Amino acid sequence: MCTVGGPVDIDLPPDRVKGKDYRCNECGEKFKGVGRKPVCPSCQSEDVSAA
Ligand SMILES: [Zn+2]
Repeated sequence: MCTVGGPVDIDLPPDRVKGKDYRCNECGEKFKGVGRKPVCPSCQSEDVSAA
């Protein structure tokens, strides 16, 4: 019998939430955006495009 814990099957990758790559049109920052209205983490601009 295996008594060493056992396989725990919760291998959740940190980015399992759907993040898309975006690029800020203001400052050129590239970032992962989630949600429908991602904002640039650098300059808080909403003027971003999906990369
Ligand atoms: Zn920006």
